[in-house]
Amino acid sequence: MKVIFLGPPGSGKGTQAKMVSERLGIPQVSTGDMLRSAVREGTPMGLKAKAMMDSGALVADEVVVGIVQERLAKADCEAGFILDGFPRTVPQADALQTCLQGLGKDLDAVISLKVDSDAVVERITGRRTCRDCGKLFHVRFDPPTQENVCDSCGGALYLRDDDQEATIRKRLEVYAEQTAPLIAYYQRADLVRTIDGMQGIAQVQDQILVAMGGN
Ligand code: ADP
Ligand code: ADP
Ligand code: ZN
Repeated sequence: MKVIFLGPPGSGKGTQAKMVSERLGIPQVSTGDMLRSAVREGTPMGLKAKAMMDSGALVADEVVVGIVQERLAKADCEAGFILDGFPRTVPQADALQTCLQGLGKDLDAVISLKVDSDAVVERITGRRTCRDCGKLFHVRFDPPTQENVCDSCGGALYLRDDDQEATIRKRLEVYAEQTAPLIAYYQRADLVRTIDGMQGIAQVQDQILVAMGGN
């Protein structure tokens, strides 16, 4: 199964992608997570990316396309993958097509998560991320058993530098301008499955699995 999870920041892409990944045994390919790793490692690319991420703007297409191409060519992506947070622009979607053609693969579906803007702000300001394993929590909607400690690995939870209200507004604008047009882009190929992302985490998960063909 080769799928894209598409939706505004805070719509639940990462939460759902991690669950589907574990359930179906296919990797989650998150450009946000890969960029944050590069930032932590302090690579020149990471340092440049951090400035863009902190401002709420997108990192350059060439950079993210390069990261994804390398990742999709790895053996664990052979049976399928979940793209989370990529593509985010039409040029990225075009580059993905070229890349998949080169690998002899086709997309099976684009899962489009619909969530209100107000809910998104509430979700992102309450989001806490594990420093060690990347697991996602929410202070109210999905709290860890022990405050600020990851249930999975015991790592410390933190608030991302870009999860501040002013930056979130900017990211929502960027989404509307640059990413939302991808819904029509993939509708032309009849790949889009729309999911009501306002439901609880478990219900959203069930509907995604059904939309992915129950396998
Ligand atoms: P969220 O989960 O809130 O949508 P991500 O973790 O996916 O956020 O992305 C965080 C930031 O990383 C984005 O605001 C952007 O700066 C950068 N980024 C992630 N994926 C991409 C991409 N495909 N293209 C350009 N920038 C990206
Ligand atoms: P995205 O990857 O699209 O930016 P996340 O998966 O990181 O979104 O979710 C954003 C925040 O909202 C996280 O703190 C997560 O725990 C919480 N969350 C995710 N899905 C739901 C949901 N269906 N209902 C309530 N909170 C949710
Ligand atoms: Zn953890």
